[in-house]
Amino acid sequence: MKLNAVELSQKLIQIPSYSGVNSQVLEFLGNYLKNLGFTCDYLEYDGSDSYPVNNLHSVFNPKNSERVIYFAGHTDVVKEGDKASWKHDPFAAKIIDGTLFGRGAADMKCAIACFVTAVEEFLAQNKSPNFGIGFLITNDEEADGVNGTAKVLEWMKENNKKITHCLVGEPTNPKKFGEMIKIGRRGSIGFKIKIIGKQGHVAYPDIALNPITILISLLKILKDHKLDEGTKFFDPSNLEITSIVSQNLGGNVIPNEAEAAFNIRFNDLHTSQSIIDLVKYACEKTVGFGAKYELTYRTSGESFLSDPKFLAPLVVAASEKITGKKPVLSTTGGTSDARFIKNYAEVVEIGLVNETAHKIDERAEVSEINQLQQTYLEILRQF
Ligand SMILES: [Zn+2]
Repeated sequence: MKLNAVELSQKLIQIPSYSGVNSQVLEFLGNYLKNLGFTCDYLEYDGSDSYPVNNLHSVFNPKNSERVIYFAGHTDVVKEGDKASWKHDPFAAKIIDGTLFGRGAADMKCAIACFVTAVEEFLAQNKSPNFGIGFLITNDEEADGVNGTAKVLEWMKENNKKITHCLVGEPTNPKKFGEMIKIGRRGSIGFKIKIIGKQGHVAYPDIALNPITILISLLKILKDHKLDEGTKFFDPSNLEITSIVSQNLGGNVIPNEAEAAFNIRFNDLHTSQSIIDLVKYACEKTVGFGAKYELTYRTSGESFLSDPKFLAPLVVAASEKITGKKPVLSTTGGTSDARFIKNYAEVVEIGLVNETAHKIDERAEVSEINQLQQTYLEILRQF
């Protein structure tokens, strides 16, 4: 059964698929792609301290071409929350006045539907293209992301599945389709610092050691330190203090401990290790004089830039042709599976509007779904 991008989006939204194993949604997609001539592999992974996940790898490469463009995406959605707060059932995929409502509309089932139908339209006109087309679909991007895209990429490498270019269909636009595509991301590390001083009477500060004074100096030094000026594609790296707490012992008591938390978003002039080393150095130089400190941190992602060589300019041109405006190349926003793919292929993220992703009444404009489908088709034509 041939469906258009909007109809296929509705079918996908109507299958609720939370992170982990969901055979129904991937088999539905796989069957659709098999009908287009694709070879499908269903890959289930578990272990690595995470839950089991199923994934779909699908490829059409009849000439065994060296150049293979993939579309990467995820079928898993975040929970809908209180269904009663939704204007329309989150899994009914209703269209009201040109807007498609449903969990996963923006993030990112419509984008999957757009790419599938763009490929279908492309292959109807070009029976035997000079490049391969593949799909890497995981059902776990929204949660751990451990047994998903990263493991499929390893499997592809072991099994000689070529990938040279990749589009990721995450929603990339703040307000309207065609505003923004993404070619990288900043890295992120969360830090916690605890300063252990010496409790005492505020009237006798010479025989106490105030951890708050030390903490404030340390945070000021860290906040004032300019990490960099930014680069062509990245904003300057930035530190934000997110919390300062101490035991509230009363107005005449110097507390024993004080703690703060801060997060550093860093560009590709740094690595997580160079940032951690810098913070450690500042702690060592600032604390001293009998106080102690405990520093803990968690890296949630390294920064990366997929050098805009061939695919990014092509995506810009295709998007401009369809919408009439040139999208900005950006590296803003949260993390995505592009961070794994960039080690294997030039990767560009282009999708719908992210404004309602993960929210109640998540939605996508029908006109923009069609524009995204046409943009993907134009990318395939120019590839
Ligand atoms: Zn997403």
